[in-house]
Amino acid sequence: MLKQSFIKYLAAAAGAVLFASGAAAAEEVVVYSARNEQLIKPLFDAYTRHSGVSVKFVTDSEGPLMQRLKAEGASTPADLLLTTDAGNLWQAAQQGLLQPVQSKVLAANIPAHLRDPANQWFGLSVRARTIVYNTQRVKPSELTTYEDLGDPKWRGRLCLRTAKKVYNQSLVAMMIAEHGEAKTEQIVRSWVANLATDVFPDDTRMMEAIAAGQCDVGITNTYYFGRLWEKKPAIPLALFWPNQKTGGVHVNISGAGVTRHAKHAQAAVRLMEWLSSAEAQNLFADVNLEYPANPQVQPDRTVAAWGTFKPNSSNLAKAGELQGDAVKLMDRAGYK
Ligand code: FE
Repeated sequence: MLKQSFIKYLAAAAGAVLFASGAAAAEEVVVYSARNEQLIKPLFDAYTRHSGVSVKFVTDSEGPLMQRLKAEGASTPADLLLTTDAGNLWQAAQQGLLQPVQSKVLAANIPAHLRDPANQWFGLSVRARTIVYNTQRVKPSELTTYEDLGDPKWRGRLCLRTAKKVYNQSLVAMMIAEHGEAKTEQIVRSWVANLATDVFPDDTRMMEAIAAGQCDVGITNTYYFGRLWEKKPAIPLALFWPNQKTGGVHVNISGAGVTRHAKHAQAAVRLMEWLSSAEAQNLFADVNLEYPANPQVQPDRTVAAWGTFKPNSSNLAKAGELQGDAVKLMDRAGYK
């Protein structure tokens, strides 16, 4: 390239950058987030450095955030709802709190089963809900499937978290999608028959009971296992990947959707697109020991050390569509 035209090129490029940041400076995005501040603040700061767009956010549990969105209606300041579990995102869409988004970037970065077929929500990170076992009391060769946790050999040896948590509702909903209601109810009844003790309010306390020998196996989200293991590396627990010859491990997402009444809808889409990019995926997933949703991106080393597995690749919208049926089924089966 001639020196003069190269200088012209540089000047034009600099002008383009100035224009872009000038246009972006006035922009902001407002996020309602069920992901806590410590997980999202570094991410949003990085986005502001990258784009010049400022990100304001409110954090709360998904229930209150969705109530607030509904109450605020058209006057809501929120542009983006960020929350865990496809069951929650599906509910938000069902309640008319989100709007469809057409984005080639999101369609390319996020596998189809991790986003809404109607494009109202998109997975941004993945967690597996898998089997955890006491390494002193169980050999991995004794484990096979979620269904097998109902086998009489596990009588008095199974611990579960409460059926009231959406994670278990989504797991059972996806089982209904795979097996139908009758067979799923049989499986859930067989789990209940094997319980060592009352259900637990959270995954961590359930795992502590397994480590203490109160029971031998349970079902947990991978990041809770990761957090516990980081605190207590000697804890006698390990993860097992079930259903590798059948439907695969149940996975779920943390994700986002643009609100129905967003004032900065385009800016919200651009933020979601950036969150799905190779640049941001590790920032989003690693801080919570989750898997990137974008398959081009490698998980954090701690997460990768748990090994690879075949995930269930049915569309997670089913977790929402069948949530009501799952709740009723678990109630009938005596799973509290
Ligand atoms: Fe969680």
